[in-house]
Amino acid sequence: MRINAHYLELKDDYLFAEIANRVSAFQSAHPTARIIRLGIGDVTLPLPRTAVEAMRAAAADMGETSTFKGYGDYPGYAFLREAIAGYYQTKEIALEMDEIFVGDGAKSDLGNILDIFGPDNTVLIPDPVYPVYVDTNVMAGRRVTYVNGSAENGFLPLPEESLHADVIYLCSPNNPTGAVYSRSGLKRWVDYALDNRAVILFDAAYEAFIHDPNLPTSIFEIEGARRCAIEFCSLSKTAGFTGVRCGYTVVPRELTADGVPLNKLWLRRQATKFNGVSYITQRGASAVFTPDGLTEARANIAYYLENARLIREALSEMGIWFVGGENAPYIWLKCPNGLGSWAFFDKLLTEAHVVGTPGAGFGQNGEGYFRLTAFGARDNVVEALARLKADF
Ligand code: PLP
Repeated sequence: MRINAHYLELKDDYLFAEIANRVSAFQSAHPTARIIRLGIGDVTLPLPRTAVEAMRAAAADMGETSTFKGYGDYPGYAFLREAIAGYYQTKEIALEMDEIFVGDGAKSDLGNILDIFGPDNTVLIPDPVYPVYVDTNVMAGRRVTYVNGSAENGFLPLPEESLHADVIYLCSPNNPTGAVYSRSGLKRWVDYALDNRAVILFDAAYEAFIHDPNLPTSIFEIEGARRCAIEFCSLSKTAGFTGVRCGYTVVPRELTADGVPLNKLWLRRQATKFNGVSYITQRGASAVFTPDGLTEARANIAYYLENARLIREALSEMGIWFVGGENAPYIWLKCPNGLGSWAFFDKLLTEAHVVGTPGAGFGQNGEGYFRLTAFGARDNVVEALARLKADF
């Protein structure tokens, strides 16, 4: 027996463990310090009431012979796929039922989609970005090249014509930077992908945070994207489903490679290795797309966005450079006084008792930057910002 030796090439997943170690060491040394976490990457508000009621009713269905459900359809129940298609309709995007695949969240689908691509593809990944893209490709032994996010391009890198790629990852709104591509930026990527006969894996996990009507919330708003893109989305940040687990992936019928529709390959992959999301969860998810569900989910997002606005306002007052936080729950700032990411982490922890996430954990280009998140409670955000203003 041999292991997949590519696992040994993975960098240690030390970021959050190292943060936890440093925070607990500081707390032990200063037991009375009230530490505030502005690094939370998880939602904190409860689920929309409408989704909870739908899941209660669905649980009751499972307890009656007449409404009991066993295995569901591989791509998800029609009622949820119809609700998702209805949601896309509000963006003026028409989807067929067989283009929508319900899954247990964007992370799984983003990792699993690699099953349908050959091992020789060259993969292009923006840096800094959500680490799952790099790690899943390293596990599969694929060649990875990077496009550089920087202060100059607002952490929204555009294609470099000199680079060839077969598989391209884009994340907008971005984790960790909170930057969001404009329509013209995405159009550049779509044109590049079509020229290179590449596929874009578009991670739209934070699309629900976009409230600026000029910004695209789906890559399928862009002409030509149906021939070159797969979109991954999730109820996690849209409606607080991080602990419930439900997402969806859109694979358009027109998307082909080597003469084969990717839609068919993905269906085959899912039918072979995945047995679907629970009926109860899918009922909860479909309730999110009802008028009441959307109103309640959007109220939670508005709460987080107000936190983000307060953080942006404070950073502006302090003269600290940042992007994000306008149409995203993440704010990406340049560490003041030329500090490195971890040096700034330590300074913030020891002087203000505030915890964030060092940018270096999201790729080489994250060094010297820092991620704050808007998922905390309002009182904590307000107090953390007062401490920052007093200390910096
Ligand atoms: N994509 C991005 C950019 C994320 O930040 C996250 C979670 O933090 C995910 C995907 C995973 O989401 P899910 O909970 O749907 O697996």
